[in-house]
Amino acid sequence: MIDVANFVEQRRVIYTSILSDLIKAKTVNPPGDEYLAAKIISKRLSKIGVKYKEYEKKRHRTNIVARVGNEKGKSVLIATHLDTVPAGDGWNTDPFNPVIKDNIMYGRGACDNKGQATAALLVLDFLKGVEKDLKNQYIFLFAADEEMGSSLGLAYLLNDNLLSPDYAIVVDVGGEMKKIDVAEKGVLNLKVVCKGRQAHGSTPHKGVSAIANMSKFIAKLDHYILKHQLHRHLSRPTINFGTIKGGSAPNTVAGSCELVINIRYLPSQTPEQIVDELKKLSERFGEFDFDVLIKVPPTELSEKSVLVETVKKVAEKHGIAAKPHGLSGATDAKSLILHGIPAVGFDFADDNTAHNANECCNLANLFKFVEVMVGICLELDQQ
Ligand SMILES: [Zn+2]
Repeated sequence: MIDVANFVEQRRVIYTSILSDLIKAKTVNPPGDEYLAAKIISKRLSKIGVKYKEYEKKRHRTNIVARVGNEKGKSVLIATHLDTVPAGDGWNTDPFNPVIKDNIMYGRGACDNKGQATAALLVLDFLKGVEKDLKNQYIFLFAADEEMGSSLGLAYLLNDNLLSPDYAIVVDVGGEMKKIDVAEKGVLNLKVVCKGRQAHGSTPHKGVSAIANMSKFIAKLDHYILKHQLHRHLSRPTINFGTIKGGSAPNTVAGSCELVINIRYLPSQTPEQIVDELKKLSERFGEFDFDVLIKVPPTELSEKSVLVETVKKVAEKHGIAAKPHGLSGATDAKSLILHGIPAVGFDFADDNTAHNANECCNLANLFKFVEVMVGICLELDQQ
């Protein structure tokens, strides 16, 4: 067997420049234009002799799927994405012209998710060299549209049956290899409408202000904790007051006020229970209606899953204590689990740089991660 550390060392320069090229290929979503980054990936795939397919639900929104190993074995998906969020303000360098300082590369997408895509490509490069010994098939996804809901990316590939792996590892969760994402909260967006009674602004006592009543309800909710059972890996449920609008004119008592709240909930709760609980709570503040806008269930994977155990075991061999962990936000691991595919999140990036100014990627961590991921693939191959 080829020595992984040596293999990685010898390709450090090539892959550092691939990451730099990927950052220069501007794929801010919207509009995405992932084809620009996909060109760099596909060029490398051809060079290392890996077959791949490109899928575009919409022109220029390219997804690349590359496979290595034995197609008759189990299949393990390693998912990354090629789109980024906009640069935003506050950068010390040009976000689309990466610079390296102290072995850290700065640029938009460096750690969300182009650094991970680069790492995945190098893992693939290694596995190609040992392909004839592999029992499983490893599927590498370089997806479009992750930052805007994945409907042109992973969700499209899953819904159209273009991808149906037995297991998946999503490399897009931060955690510096210390966290294995095994649980994600549910999401519930609720529209709350408070009804009042209009009156002339000079005689507010003749009406009922929907704004005043809504604000009382908000004050109540502000420190309210929804009923739930504690979860091993997830923090308690939260309520965010996302948007509010109300009233029609300064000199009219507000007849209506509309609030949209974003709730992150636990497996012990259901949207129906939550709505009931809030309804009861609102009764003393006036007339309220509740409308569910979006609901996405919480997901979790057993810690005994071979995937979790393998990641833990291999990380440990590399001196890293990786522990099961829950996320308040949602990643592509959630969509995979909802499609019946056991999935975890595992990543080398730190939690604070994605979506921020001066986004960066620690190159030492990237190449260390490659070694760990190769180890995970080879270990899964023994199962
Ligand atoms: Zn992101």
